[in-house]
Amino acid sequence: MEDSTQFDVIVIGAGVMGSSTAYQAAKRGQKTLLLEQFDFLHHLGSSHGESRTIRATYPEEYYTPMVIESEKQWREFESEIGYKVYYKTGQLDLGPADNSSLVSIINNCRTHSINHRILDRDEARTRFSGMVEIPENWIAVTTELGGVLKPTKAVAMFQTLAIKHGAILKDKREIVDVAVDKHRGGVLVKSGSGEKFWGKKCVVTAGAWISKMVQNVCNGGVNLPVQPVETSLFYWKIKEGYEVDFTVGAGFPSFASYGDPYIYGTPALEFPGLIKVAVHGGRECDPDSRTWGAAAAGTEGTTMVIGYLKEWIKSTFGDRVNWEDGPVMRQSCMYSLTPDGDFVIDFLGGEFNEYVVVAGGFSGHGFKMAPVVGRILVDLALGGKAAAAQEEEIKHFKLRRFEDNPKGNAKAFEEQVRLRMMLQQLHTCKHQKKVGSFSSVSEPDENVHLHSGINHYTS
Ligand SMILES: Cc1cc2nc3c(=O)[nH]c(=O)nc-3n(C[C@H](O)[C@H](O)[C@H](O)COP(=O)(O)OP(=O)(O)OC[C@H]3O[C@@H](n4cnc5c(N)ncnc54)[C@H](O)[C@@H]3O)c2cc1C
Repeated sequence: MEDSTQFDVIVIGAGVMGSSTAYQAAKRGQKTLLLEQFDFLHHLGSSHGESRTIRATYPEEYYTPMVIESEKQWREFESEIGYKVYYKTGQLDLGPADNSSLVSIINNCRTHSINHRILDRDEARTRFSGMVEIPENWIAVTTELGGVLKPTKAVAMFQTLAIKHGAILKDKREIVDVAVDKHRGGVLVKSGSGEKFWGKKCVVTAGAWISKMVQNVCNGGVNLPVQPVETSLFYWKIKEGYEVDFTVGAGFPSFASYGDPYIYGTPALEFPGLIKVAVHGGRECDPDSRTWGAAAAGTEGTTMVIGYLKEWIKSTFGDRVNWEDGPVMRQSCMYSLTPDGDFVIDFLGGEFNEYVVVAGGFSGHGFKMAPVVGRILVDLALGGKAAAAQEEEIKHFKLRRFEDNPKGNAKAFEEQVRLRMMLQQLHTCKHQKKVGSFSSVSEPDENVHLHSGINHYTS
């Protein structure tokens, strides 16, 4: 009889990254186990909810090919499962004409032959029939590759396909120990209730728990500089008579605004008559003791965020969206931020050598790339390296980049961190604490990050 505790690949963490990995491992004929600490499709991590933006417009040249490839794969997975998780509408990026991120985005569009149009204020007004207003010195960049992914539905899709290809999925299994099997090689994985599994290879996709996981569960492995941040999404009511104009059906795009702060949103889809507009930012948190945004409501940070959003909506969508009364709905979620906003995808190394692959720090912009990330993780676990097409990209996601420089990869968009710096000064910096390799403000209620662009994007 086949041993039900022995696997080729064990994946820990069933968010979008782990679920995509389990599906792709099983599809390649690997005996695969996916383990999750909570219920499947829970709302306690980063992959739940109703919408995530997909766009190819990145200032970093290495994400664009990953998005282009992922878009193809989203469509393939849709046809395998037989339902839709991706609604294509196009992407609209706005910002000052000299904004360095936007300039890099345009250059990348050219490099990667992405169809795009650069519009000035009047052209943008005409193109969007007066629905989008931008300041005089701003430009709008429209691209075809853009739209909305349905996160919870997409995770369910990966899990269903994984089962279809023979994977075993177990939830309510908190993994409390991962150790190298010194006798036969591979990895021994233990759950809180004492179940034990053996895997030839193990992939850890623990989201906001990844640093804790690596430190406590993988026996004091590497210190992963991934900071969990609790963030809120806001939905705003579209005014009567304009509801249809902002819908996916009407072709309204997903959007991002490269001002201070960085603002993003998706067209009306999940909640009729509501549009999602949010700021990329939040407060540092412990994923095991969240405030759920409630404690944050009414604090200086939240009031400031809503203030920025009101101003932005008023000046961009004018009278078509009700900014006056504030958002009508809020949802809480967690980012896993690295200092440079780039992913971590690497072997854990040390005694784990190439038995354990870690993937985390998706920094609020990873969802759209889950198909390619899953594929890379399976390639690394099974073959020790990524496919030639991704070798170039994953160089930027290595763990050792933080050894050379705690800030990670150097970026050419430094001026974009202005607001974050400003906020840190604003919230009296009583003393500094170390979080991974982050240096951060230590007042828990005021530990706010607002990102205005620099490689910290959500959409
Ligand atoms: C508000 C918000 C908006 C976003 N918008 C976008 C967007 O528009 N476009 C985009 O591309 N991306 C976006 N993102 C980012 C994207 O959603 C994340 O990058 C992605 O969901 C991360 O997935 P994950 O699988 O790494 O993490 P998670 O979904 O958190 O999954 C990790 C899983 O590991 C489990 N786990 C942890 N520890 C253990 C353990 N010890 N044992 C067993 N299981 C464990 C957790 O319970 C969890 O289920 C957004 C994120 C947020 C929060």
